[in-house]
Amino acid sequence: MDDAEWQWIRIRHPWTHRFFIHWPDATPASHQNIRVYDRQGLDYARLVWKVCHTCRRGVISKISLSPEVQRQGLGAILIDRALRDGPTYDWTTSPQSPEGKTFFAVMAVRTGASFTGGAKTCEHINGVRAGRTHPVLDRHLQRTAPRVPSWP
Ligand SMILES: [Zn+2]
Repeated sequence: MDDAEWQWIRIRHPWTHRFFIHWPDATPASHQNIRVYDRQGLDYARLVWKVCHTCRRGVISKISLSPEVQRQGLGAILIDRALRDGPTYDWTTSPQSPEGKTFFAVMAVRTGASFTGGAKTCEHINGVRAGRTHPVLDRHLQRTAPRVPSWP
């Protein structure tokens, strides 16, 4: 996000202290990105996912949380946001570290998605390249994500 985009979002939302910023997919099945920022611009969580509506597949490519916001439900909230794009689709993940495997095993039980690590995806998801898109506030997360004391 360039400075002008970030300044514009802050000016338009003067009372917001936590920003769920979404970069939509540039083309079908290309990656989407959500980052969570405080008002100072500190980025403390990130989710990257791709969805193919043709093949009814989704993949979580990356999820990362700063240590201070781990184990408070933020990861689950971000996973739920990705799944909104295809609640009944076949969801997998990129290959995972042992810690990531534990996280996705919990998410699989919670959501019913398989989240198989490193599974094959489809030609659309594999074949598409990232393009530049403009960031917008994710209205759903802005409205529904709970307040947690250690989150900005
Ligand atoms: Zn596909």
